[in-house]
Amino acid sequence: MKITRVETFAVPPRWLFCRIETDDGLVGWGEPVVEGRAATVRTAVHELAEQFLVGADPLRVEDHWQLMTKGSFYRGGPVLSSAVAGLDQALWDIAGKAFGAPAHQLLGGPVRERARAYCWVGGDAPAEVRDQVAAQVEAGFTAVKMNGSGRMDRLPNVADLRRIAARAEAAREALGPEGDFAVDFHGRFSVAGAIRAVGVLEPYAPMFVEEPVLPEHTHLLERVTGATSLPVATGERLFSRAEVLPALRAGVAVLQPDLSHAGGLSETRRIAALAETYDVAIAPHCPLGPLALAASLQLAFCTPNFLIQEQSIGIHYHSGAELLDYVADPEVFRFHAGHLLRPTGPGLGVEIDERAVRAADGTAESWHNPVWRHPDGSFAEW
Ligand SMILES: [Mg+2]
Repeated sequence: MKITRVETFAVPPRWLFCRIETDDGLVGWGEPVVEGRAATVRTAVHELAEQFLVGADPLRVEDHWQLMTKGSFYRGGPVLSSAVAGLDQALWDIAGKAFGAPAHQLLGGPVRERARAYCWVGGDAPAEVRDQVAAQVEAGFTAVKMNGSGRMDRLPNVADLRRIAARAEAAREALGPEGDFAVDFHGRFSVAGAIRAVGVLEPYAPMFVEEPVLPEHTHLLERVTGATSLPVATGERLFSRAEVLPALRAGVAVLQPDLSHAGGLSETRRIAALAETYDVAIAPHCPLGPLALAASLQLAFCTPNFLIQEQSIGIHYHSGAELLDYVADPEVFRFHAGHLLRPTGPGLGVEIDERAVRAADGTAESWHNPVWRHPDGSFAEW
């Protein structure tokens, strides 16, 4: 079997899919994208495909990963690692279809039968948070995630801290003692500010606090993990085993590798194994589309230290299209009491609606994250 063609499709709301075709007629799909840089990643996908994949045997998945990742002197970073990630997913999809098994079966077989998932809640005022969390509890979810704050000064003042606490209190009220909420800080805080903000969250016992500081400040993260009893999470902006290692050493409790950013199923599988040696759980980041979620689930079902899966169905900042718009059989992503069931189809276990993908290609407005400024006009982290 040889790879004959690699295509890409830029689809709303902000996603990129790749499709690898073989001379056997088998086709594999993946999702190589960095939110806000889809066109850049698209170029990288085609460069890698032409250099390393077209004409090659798709079943040499690991060898392709090695060459795509290390075969160029300059390597790594979000763009290249995400391009490799999507192509790696598509190669696992083909491998599963060739052997008639889900990818998680090829990776050792299932270790669980269902995977807990959480959804996002938006809303700024505590009452909005309470209503949105209550709606997700009503829909069967047992866990949600929300932002800890809006734009944040380097050091939060008393009003900021009260707002952060009030939102957490509202989430806890709506969830009751059995439910879980996580709080994403998005790297908006300074180290000192994060320590203060995490402190006011402690009475409400969130499941974890995420990205309390920026990934470039991972060398300072231990000051946060050492200052709180709350589990600290990070990892959506770390792209390899080597990049997660300092976070593990800094004492995080949860790693959040993204299957579409951190080298695909091949590398996130190894990141999960590395995390296990630090007694750290993984909760893969996934505000993305159906292939990223399908790849994440393949990892969830063969990974003992899996905690919970992020997913974007109903996420508050997507517009124009939904994850299920591109899936031929949405049943695979149907929630059962806040969990997704083990997919049994071959490869990534999801059947893509190719006609819908081709029709949507090129119709997405280019998405970029907002650029925020402080009241004095200086740049602020989003
Ligand atoms: Mg996050």
